[in-house]
Amino acid sequence: MSENTLHFKEYEYTMPLPSVEKIRQSIVYKLIFILGVDPKDATSENWLNAAMFAVRDLMTESFLQTRRAHENGQKRMVYYLSMEFLMGRAFTNALVNQNLYNQFKQAFNELGLDLESIAEHEADPGLGNGGLGRLAACFLDSLATLRIPAVGYGIRYQYGMFKQEIVDGQQIEKPDLWLEDDMEWEFHRPNKRFAVNFGGHIYQDGERTVWQPNDEIEAIAYDEIIPGYGAQVANPLRLWTAHTANLFNLDCFNSGNYIDAINEKMNDENIARVLYPNDSTEAGRELRLKQEYFLVSASVQDIVARHLCRANDIRTLADTVAIHLNDTHPVLAIPELMRILIDVHQLNFDEAWDICQRVFSYTNHTLMSEALETWSVGLMAHLLPRHLDIIYKINAKFLAFVREQGFDEEFVKRVSIIQEGNDRRVRMAWLAVVTSHKVNGVAKIHSDLMKTSIFADFAQLYPDRFLNVTNGVTPRRWIEIANPPLANLLDNYLGESDWRLHLDKLTKLNDLADDANVQAAFAQVKRQAKERLADYVARELNIHINPDALFDVQIKRIHAYKRQSMNVLHIVNRYLHILANPNANWQPRVFILAGKAASAYVEAKQTIHLINDIAKTINSDERIRDLIKVVFIPNYGVSLAQIIIPAADLSEQISLAGTEASGTSNMKFALNGALTIGTFDGANVEIHERVGDEHSFIFGHSVEQVQALRHNGYNPYDFIDNDMDLRNTVQAIAQGMFSPEDPNRYNSLMHNGDFYQRYADFRSYANVQTRVDEHYRNQAAWRKSAIVNIANMGYFSSDRSIAEYCEKIWQIKPLTEEELPNNGR
Ligand SMILES: *Cc1c(COP(=O)(O)O)cnc(C)c1O
Repeated sequence: MSENTLHFKEYEYTMPLPSVEKIRQSIVYKLIFILGVDPKDATSENWLNAAMFAVRDLMTESFLQTRRAHENGQKRMVYYLSMEFLMGRAFTNALVNQNLYNQFKQAFNELGLDLESIAEHEADPGLGNGGLGRLAACFLDSLATLRIPAVGYGIRYQYGMFKQEIVDGQQIEKPDLWLEDDMEWEFHRPNKRFAVNFGGHIYQDGERTVWQPNDEIEAIAYDEIIPGYGAQVANPLRLWTAHTANLFNLDCFNSGNYIDAINEKMNDENIARVLYPNDSTEAGRELRLKQEYFLVSASVQDIVARHLCRANDIRTLADTVAIHLNDTHPVLAIPELMRILIDVHQLNFDEAWDICQRVFSYTNHTLMSEALETWSVGLMAHLLPRHLDIIYKINAKFLAFVREQGFDEEFVKRVSIIQEGNDRRVRMAWLAVVTSHKVNGVAKIHSDLMKTSIFADFAQLYPDRFLNVTNGVTPRRWIEIANPPLANLLDNYLGESDWRLHLDKLTKLNDLADDANVQAAFAQVKRQAKERLADYVARELNIHINPDALFDVQIKRIHAYKRQSMNVLHIVNRYLHILANPNANWQPRVFILAGKAASAYVEAKQTIHLINDIAKTINSDERIRDLIKVVFIPNYGVSLAQIIIPAADLSEQISLAGTEASGTSNMKFALNGALTIGTFDGANVEIHERVGDEHSFIFGHSVEQVQALRHNGYNPYDFIDNDMDLRNTVQAIAQGMFSPEDPNRYNSLMHNGDFYQRYADFRSYANVQTRVDEHYRNQAAWRKSAIVNIANMGYFSSDRSIAEYCEKIWQIKPLTEEELPNNGR
């Protein structure tokens, strides 16, 4: 690219250039003129902020050009609505996706600074709980990389996921002040604002229903640039903040009650204040319902406005708009679009309904009934009376259709969007399924179960509506950024670099898995990552772990269904055996766990406490001679995952069969050459299918066996009483071996009915762990397995997932070269 290449041809300006010298100058310029900081006084944070503005300059043009292409084209676009986006740090990602990493590294060198340590100073925006939010982030990366016209919509929570500290072995939640330190490098869009209304009442005006709300709050946009890999396209992630300037509670204001009106303003601004720290359990609180409506109302208004700019005819909305609902959290988008089409644009109900059915699609993320969102009719009548009215009308139309098909009243009751009874509730998942033209699960087994369990009735009504799109992860973040040495290895042995865009190319490694050179190179890559993690653990926790040991890793939200406590049973069982038989040939292992527990989830918090109590006891027991180390790393998040995952030898994916919809950390681990120990659950099934029996460790009951046990009245003592290892282990924990100061601390955790059947799966888990040790002793065989794992992960690229969504659900095609300016670097 030369200096006089103008992409916005009608304007004259100087393009920033990506040469090392220009980048260095640009960083210093930003430091002085944007931040107002004297270079001699600049902190690492200052340099980081300056560099972020410098790289933003280099992305902005393709961002705006992409927007032009969206606006000018008549292409269908997808709007991805999600209450969570777990983006991880943006700076290194921007450099990698723009192919600017080396230039910036060099520029920093010339300034006497180290890029990597500067980049560490970026806050990790935790605008999500776990897998669901991280999936949304991987999908945005793939959408931009595949040049799909797309916009992400979410909430710019002032406080993201809480910061986890461990004090005396227990989780403490601290507010995450992610916005405090960094300069805003998103584009604030104070002119993109929409009023979001709440409360009041509805009345009839002839044929029309009129909503007279009594509260109004404004949503204001911030746009984050999501650069695609290769720098051709950059899509927006539009995050909304709440703002009430000049808008008060209208009733209070009119009655002259100024102070109350101001108070109300404070309350309203809470809407975008904090992310609900829940995963797989329902939040169920009024503020959460307000947040959900806030997101969808602002987003749908924006989507409709964009459409009208492009097409100027509301009736063609479905030709240019696909709206995707990431789980049920944004399902209020359905009655909101109905409301706008009917109340604002005067369409009749059937026209509006037809458009909605063509616009919406929905991804289901869980089969667990406690996680299925429902809202009380009373609360909804109070906050969103017009939307409740629309939902009733949708339901009436839908139930008439069901009765027409000849189904009985029992069936009608089951599929009704309104759950009848003393506490009448709106079933959000039902509303999503009834409206969406496509409903997908996130792994094969989950999509199959979806059709035979929660949505069985609907699968009868709409057999063509349901499909599977197995999740994926972006190789840009999860190899290139998280594990640069592995990226180098792949470049060398694949002889090309475009595995980053065509992850299927990894299959070539299958032929090299036996090659001693490749194995040695892989061993070195793994060793480097293990040393990096060991350094981190030594620095942060003052625990010393040996990189020669097998690193056995379970990192994810702490939840009973994920069964961290079964992992604990194995650790304690091993401990007891080493004490009884110290001179056997034990394979040294480091058990690494990390994850947050929802703040109100007692059992999960106890599990964290137990892990830390066990770590304290075992790590200081000299009889164990470091044959076991247990490390709980606090404050799990994307940046920590990027350090831990490359260092793992063994990936623990041990949820009860039928409970983990897909999992995505299982994919990240295998992609980084860890072997999976896992149940036949979620995407483990498809990972196993691709890597084969010799290179992964599957154990435990199948979904059918789990159901049969439950059906026959599952009794944990059938298993505890008949397995001496298990009995001793449970007793040791329950009777205070790890909590002598409080011997009953874990009694209830061990004797709680065992809903997720860890005792039933313990024996096969412990047995397969023995096979893991044997396999690891043969290092050549282990390395081969690791390489085979990497080789067969091509399928799990989020690029493949997004291509499937485009083809099977959204009917969307990428922007072509002609539609894009020639701004690739
Ligand atoms: C990938 C990822 C998850 C999802 O992990 P699962 O094991 O699939 O539940 C959660 N949190 C973070 C930070 C992740 O990177």
